[in-house]
Amino acid sequence: MSKKYCYLFTEGNAKMREILGGKGANLAEMTNIGLPVPQGFTISTEACTKYYDDGKKINPEIQAEIMQYIDKMEKITGKKFGDHNNPLLVSVRSGARASMPGMMDTILNLGLNEDVVNVIANKSNNPRWAWDCYRRFIQMYSDVVMEVGKKYFEQLIDKMKEEKGTHEDTDLTADDLKKLANQFKAEYKSKIGKDFPADPKEQLYGAIEAVFRSWDNPRANVYRRDNDIPYSWGTAVNVQMMAFGNMGETSGTGVAFTRDPATGEKKLMGEFLMNAQGEDVVAGVRTPMKIEKMAEIMPDVFEQFKAICATLENHYRDMQDMEFTIEDKKLYMLQTRNGKRTAKAALKIACDLVDEGMITEQQAVMMIDPRNLDTLLHPQFDAKALKAANPIGKGLGASPGAACGQIVFTAEDAESWKKAGKKVILVRLETSPEDITGMKAAQGILTVRGGMTSHAAVVARGMGTCCVSGCQEIKMDEENKKFTLSGKTYKEGDIISLDGSTGNIYGSAIPTVDAAIVGEFSRIMSWADKYRKLKVRTNADTPRDAKKARELGAEGIGLCRTEHMFFDPERIAAFREMICSDNVADREIALDKILPYQQGDFEKLYEALEGCPVCIRFLDPPLHEFLPTEEHDIAELAKSLHKTVEDIKNIIASLHEFNPMMGHRGCRLTVTYPEIARMQTRAVIRAAINVSKKHPDWKIVPEIMIPLVGEVKEFKFNKDIVVETADAEIKAAGVDLHYEVGTMIEIPRAALTADEIAKEADFFCFGTNDLTQMTFGFSRDDAGKFLGAYYDTKIYESDPFARLDQKGVGKLMKMSIELGKPANEHLHVGICGEHGGDPSSVEFCHKIGLDYVSCSPFRVPIARLAAAQAALKK
Ligand code: PEP
Ligand code: MG
Repeated sequence: MSKKYCYLFTEGNAKMREILGGKGANLAEMTNIGLPVPQGFTISTEACTKYYDDGKKINPEIQAEIMQYIDKMEKITGKKFGDHNNPLLVSVRSGARASMPGMMDTILNLGLNEDVVNVIANKSNNPRWAWDCYRRFIQMYSDVVMEVGKKYFEQLIDKMKEEKGTHEDTDLTADDLKKLANQFKAEYKSKIGKDFPADPKEQLYGAIEAVFRSWDNPRANVYRRDNDIPYSWGTAVNVQMMAFGNMGETSGTGVAFTRDPATGEKKLMGEFLMNAQGEDVVAGVRTPMKIEKMAEIMPDVFEQFKAICATLENHYRDMQDMEFTIEDKKLYMLQTRNGKRTAKAALKIACDLVDEGMITEQQAVMMIDPRNLDTLLHPQFDAKALKAANPIGKGLGASPGAACGQIVFTAEDAESWKKAGKKVILVRLETSPEDITGMKAAQGILTVRGGMTSHAAVVARGMGTCCVSGCQEIKMDEENKKFTLSGKTYKEGDIISLDGSTGNIYGSAIPTVDAAIVGEFSRIMSWADKYRKLKVRTNADTPRDAKKARELGAEGIGLCRTEHMFFDPERIAAFREMICSDNVADREIALDKILPYQQGDFEKLYEALEGCPVCIRFLDPPLHEFLPTEEHDIAELAKSLHKTVEDIKNIIASLHEFNPMMGHRGCRLTVTYPEIARMQTRAVIRAAINVSKKHPDWKIVPEIMIPLVGEVKEFKFNKDIVVETADAEIKAAGVDLHYEVGTMIEIPRAALTADEIAKEADFFCFGTNDLTQMTFGFSRDDAGKFLGAYYDTKIYESDPFARLDQKGVGKLMKMSIELGKPANEHLHVGICGEHGGDPSSVEFCHKIGLDYVSCSPFRVPIARLAAAQAALKK
């Protein structure tokens, strides 16, 4: 039997959203439960996929099926397309599996032509309505199907209103509207070169194709990427008999929510317009009335509507967002869906529904979008002020939050301005580890280069600082401390605002309000914790971040990047001395200066984590990153080390690498400078011993993690140094301390030989930033430059540095576990790449059996919730 592509509303139900789309499935469900729904049929999402597979054509088989369903629809409604007695008019609407409000196209009043307009005008004795429908149809069809552009038609309406001396569409008479319809048709002909189509079936094909096409329009593509909606899903098309809200003062149309989508409060919220069609409410042509007003205008209809709202909320057990039309006092439901809501409202609604006995705790956990929680954890712009502001540019929303401050161009300026009591935004071409103190001092960070895992993005997320990265439209002049964006020049001291969630940049101050964690938030989190299997750790390098992460529910540190600890002024001096040393003895002298700092830092981390696991990763970046680049800094370093400027420049030149990310870094540093690993081991073990003495009830088991391993012998070389040093320390202290040595899996070869490595390692932790970089073979710092083209061409649908590539990188992870666990039954496995805080990646980690995910502090609640959802998903 050939595949079925069309379904009458009576043939579907709410569970069929994969093929009917959300709107189609819910129209079917509302039909099933006996609500007043104008009847029709849904063309499936599979027909859309087929349309694209067939080179953007509706194939004859599907065309024939659509024809059959028009026949069926004509029988059900008793109306016929183009009929001179009882003509059928339909709406054609998109509806994907996941709701994408406003992203795709809709056409109303389809089926009209000169003859049909006259028929309905006479039959209804309401020519004004008939001509209003026709002019609307021509306008929408021209815009959506033929892409003529709305503005030409709007200009004609404005001209007509001006001639009539009115502001309201409703003041236009039947004759005016007839004149408009004819003007619209002339406009159409002048733009398209053909007459406006009169055959309803031709109109219908055009509309169906336009809806399919709209699946691939730019705003839909962006929305899908932001919301993890796969391109492969396609959209369904709903062909539905029209109900008319524009038939006069006993007709109307509106939208309503069963609860307040902004606050979650349990009260009906909505707006409606009398004598109007759907798009008038959203388009802002006229100011709609509050839904309560319906009680005065049409009390019976309002009562019926309230009852339907209650039925729908009860049925779906969630807040509903509905569209309705009243045709001459008769109410029709045109749509219902689980309403979009703010994070705050989502938490309140979920908790209220549990308290009302409508849903279980598990269902409450499942209904919150983890990504939404982000907005609750950072300072936010005042919503009203934000709405009124116009962005001057857009980058990647790399670290959420709202920031407003004066522009500075260097990390030093950020620090000194902050000390002077100013709020600053650090604007850089790109950031390097050297900028860290400046980044800390800034309210927000804006970079011209870099993607979601660029240094700026990772560090900012770790600190919970707002960051917009990769705004390539900026013309940067760092030297003269200014940049140009959207034709305007911004200088040091000018005020800008950044929205780290949307990536928007604003050229003025927008006031912010502090984020508050309300009661429902912790209630939902405690339910999530009950059901999740994955542990959630954090990536934190400072006691401040660690403490914040603990507050947000982290159960350990999964990654402490030790290099971030070297950038304080007094430390960097010793570290540079170490790098510039000519021999081992000198290097060890310099390292001895660093040791107490590191030990002190680790002690504070152990204290902050209160006995929970702390995984410390040894030095990872190439050494050149720690050396100065500015002439005066080089001169100063030379002076302090009693070397010449030439000597220092030679050292810097000797450390230059063409491809530093694949260069002398990670465990390779230990192979050439074992003394660095010795110092770091001493610092870790001494810190653990000291804190254990203070807190004998905490069972501290230091985890030492070796980065960038690709070969077991390389790991063993590092481990031997750690073990020898650690054992000596423990022996000297006369204590009993168990510690673990594990590795990051971030080089494909490590995954491929995970069985060999697991025999030596106590744990694996997936460094999916590097693993993604090395598996794809493109740079995590530069990929942003061409990924846009990859999205446009549908080669990739999302940034693999933000959302785990489960097929490729995920396969390597799965392989590592499958090879590693049998080789070492005690092996524990986590992830500490940026994907550890991304919900779909967390779900994958759950599926392949990781023990924990580790993410930046502010993403801990997101990971907790995503882990619970992964566990609860069947
Ligand atoms: C990684 O590569 O995923 C990782 C966590 O290490 P880093 O980002 O420090 O390279
Ligand atoms: Mg790495």
